[in-house]
Amino acid sequence: MSTNVQHREGTESKTKPHLLNLTLAGLPELEHFETDEQRQAALEQIGQEAADVKSGGFWLAIGVLVGGVVGGQYLIRGLMGMVSWPRWLEDSLILLGTGVLFVFILRFLHRRGAAAELRQKLLQEGVPVCVACGYLLRGLPLDPGRCPECGRDFEPRVRAILIEQGASNPDPQRSGSSAPQDAAEPPAA
Ligand SMILES: [Zn+2]
Repeated sequence: MSTNVQHREGTESKTKPHLLNLTLAGLPELEHFETDEQRQAALEQIGQEAADVKSGGFWLAIGVLVGGVVGGQYLIRGLMGMVSWPRWLEDSLILLGTGVLFVFILRFLHRRGAAAELRQKLLQEGVPVCVACGYLLRGLPLDPGRCPECGRDFEPRVRAILIEQGASNPDPQRSGSSAPQDAAEPPAA
């Protein structure tokens, strides 16, 4: 039971959760950070980048959001055309459905974008995760060097991190090399 845990103080309630953390609660990527400080810093950076109006991803998200809400509203109106309920009830349901749709699409976009960003931050922090699905690749062998979850080949950065953390290099002739980034070529299939 004497595992070498990173120097982490028992002050987990130091940073109060803000809105971003609530929307992203449950993302597996959040569990992979080694310290609360790293996780907090990554979340704050992502929050700033998401609010960047100049970025293409922001406008793409707006487009998806507006398109989804408008399309959904047409769908709900179409459904209302099949029944003959009181006008006030149909209007209320359309309003309610549009509101729910808005929140769901926004949450979906937010989580999807943040998960991809978090994987990049994790790699920067030296945590080997699959960029495609977010699976934690720590301790996995470089041969065959594929994500057990989605089957994607390890990124060069992932290989470099794993070698740094002591993964056995599949090419033994290079194991004494001083350059850990020099990942071996994958064997030709
Ligand atoms: Zn994967």
